[in-house]
Amino acid sequence: MKTYVVGGAVRDRLLGRPVQDRDHVVVGATPQQLVARGFTPVGKDFPVFLHPHTHEEYALARTERSTGPGYKGFTFHTAPDVTLEDDLIRRDLTINAIAEDEDGTLIDPFGGQRDLAAKLFRHVSSAFAEDPVRILRVARFAARFADFAVAPETLALMRQMVAAGEVDHLVPERVWQELARGLMEAKPSRMFAVLRDCGALAHILPELDALWGVPQPEIHHPEIDTGAHVMLVVDLAAAAGHPLPVRFAALLHDLGKGVTPKEGWPSHHGHEALGVPLVQAICQRLRVPNDCRDLALMTAREHGNIGRGLQLRAATLVNVFERCDAIRRPERFFDMLKAAECDFRGRSGEQRTFANEPYPQAAHWQAALAAARSIDAGAIAHANRENPPRIPLAIHEARVAAVRAIAGVSEEGAPSA
Ligand code: ATP
Ligand code: MG
Repeated sequence: MKTYVVGGAVRDRLLGRPVQDRDHVVVGATPQQLVARGFTPVGKDFPVFLHPHTHEEYALARTERSTGPGYKGFTFHTAPDVTLEDDLIRRDLTINAIAEDEDGTLIDPFGGQRDLAAKLFRHVSSAFAEDPVRILRVARFAARFADFAVAPETLALMRQMVAAGEVDHLVPERVWQELARGLMEAKPSRMFAVLRDCGALAHILPELDALWGVPQPEIHHPEIDTGAHVMLVVDLAAAAGHPLPVRFAALLHDLGKGVTPKEGWPSHHGHEALGVPLVQAICQRLRVPNDCRDLALMTAREHGNIGRGLQLRAATLVNVFERCDAIRRPERFFDMLKAAECDFRGRSGEQRTFANEPYPQAAHWQAALAAARSIDAGAIAHANRENPPRIPLAIHEARVAAVRAIAGVSEEGAPSA
């Protein structure tokens, strides 16, 4: 029996990147032999074992047979006569199909090193077409290795898979998992560029795909195109190191601009409210976790108000806090401020970028929230104990008074939200 390090660990070492976890493949062994050597079987779908000391993953070399369309339609075949090359050929990309033996010798039958040097994502074999998850993986790797391109023949194959309806069979959890991982990479816009290029985005996130070709007013948005704007925003959220909910909220904040009446373009009055049901639909369809869903809904609904914060009256600011449950959950509100700041900065053209302009809205909202939270609701409830139905209004009014007292809050005549 021989063991090799394979996949991401070999690739990342060759790229000079930190190696996360090392996956091994074992050739010429049976499960019984591995168990006899102290390995622990853990694989649900195919035989994977944990090393008795390092606890790294060892998989028996395997071939696959597709038994139907989509992610679930696979069975695996392992046997001592499955060779390393048999195993490598079923991997997705050439750069992920390089093995390294115990002496450090590379086994690279599909030109992975060549493609690493050329910065290309190239499929190993036509078997790539049997699993649409691979489309998502290529897109996610593009967000991580932002200077890599998809090889033309791989892009052509991905387009064929999309045209054949393959991505419609993906299980929602897997779509979300890959999107979420791609959002956490350095340049999420690359993932969406790849998904758009092969046509998959229109199947997976049609509400987002619709934003390309939708114009915005050039004075506020020198980039004009709404899709281009959203990509700038999501890349800024990544560059700032924001957590997943903020990146997801940044991605979906402007969906409403895809459904505003064309007669009104390039303005998008009311796009915030129009976006809310679209965010809702995506989150239901992909079973998005609650923290991501709630922040995305709130950001879609309120980002216009956040941007106009300096013009809003105290009562309006407090209404926003109460709608967002910000009194009880200030951290989530601050996360929305982060997404809104990326929205503000994610605008640029040749003449103008907003990257370094001041964004006083953030400090203003923070000061207003601190004031609104400073009131003693218990004392107000006690003072109104003879008239309990008045308590919520009395608390609200005290919050408004506290917010009105801070510097720079707009007064009469300002628009309401
Ligand atoms: P990461 O750094 O994100 O972990 P990775 O390349 O190690 O990247 P894994 O998901 O850990 O990705 O998978 C390990 C290896 O298994 C890959 O390098 C690839 O060779 C293979 N692989 C994983 N998923 C697929 C798939 N859907 N189709 C084909 N090969 C796959
Ligand atoms: Mg890995």
